[in-house]
Amino acid sequence: MSHVHFGINLGFAVKRWPEPEAWAELVAERLGLKLVQFTFDLLDPWWPEAERRLLAHKAQRAAAAAGLTIHSAFVGLASYTYNGLLHPEPAGRRAALEWWRRAVDLAAELGASAVGGPLGGMSVASAPNQRERLYPLLLDDVRAITEWAAAAGLREMLIEPTPLTREIPHHIDEARRLLADLDGTTAVPVRYVIDVGHALYRPLYGSDAALEPWLNALGHRIGVFHLQNTDFQSDSHWGWPDPRGHFDVPAFARAVQAAGLGETPTFLEVFYSFEMDDQAVLDNITQSVEHCRRALATSDAG
Ligand code: MN
Ligand code: FE
Repeated sequence: MSHVHFGINLGFAVKRWPEPEAWAELVAERLGLKLVQFTFDLLDPWWPEAERRLLAHKAQRAAAAAGLTIHSAFVGLASYTYNGLLHPEPAGRRAALEWWRRAVDLAAELGASAVGGPLGGMSVASAPNQRERLYPLLLDDVRAITEWAAAAGLREMLIEPTPLTREIPHHIDEARRLLADLDGTTAVPVRYVIDVGHALYRPLYGSDAALEPWLNALGHRIGVFHLQNTDFQSDSHWGWPDPRGHFDVPAFARAVQAAGLGETPTFLEVFYSFEMDDQAVLDNITQSVEHCRRALATSDAG
């Protein structure tokens, strides 16, 4: 996996470096990366269209000036908080679909080629018996989103599985079923984002949870990887160094290479607490990028 395929999700910049020039310079100069995944935590699709367009235009220009490619625009922490397309109320689901329509527009305004994120979560009350009723509605919503994506000039929609049984898809079989049910009915291809902190979450998948089954089952239908440091007991999103985490980036790189997926864009996705010292965040994100870059480059040579 060469450096061209390694980039960073802008979640690290939230609230601290929202100015496009600030994050663009950080990514290009300090981190030495060319590829970014924009997060809707920096710019919300719901914001009034005139302001949103203006801010998206500035972000797109700053990225271009710094030589950065905005690969995709992605659901962040804020929008993940809501039930999204699996809201128990029809009105909630309609609102979520409208959010995605705007997210597609914003992704296009940013010059990204894809839009994506987790799809939604059912309530505790609806999860046990509403899944089969909500599932076909979810399929229709994804199809609608891909229609808007095609019309906006995007090339794909990226879906991120999450390790919660109330969410769809949350395991390998469900991810395969979703693809099978969507295939041939979407206006742009649908592919997956495999977040290592989700795929290897042991409380749900067991102590022998591994990446290979995901890679083997989904193969080139994996469009992006999310890298993070984790203890496998939480969706940690830690960086390096972190005494709590023991995610092995070289092993990840070897597995991805072995599966023939070495060209898949891989984004470091690290979140820091709002109260953490700004300089400490800067130091950790810099060391995290170095750590991952070294590990990914080593697997290239070997
Ligand atoms: Mn993720
Ligand atoms: Fe996550």
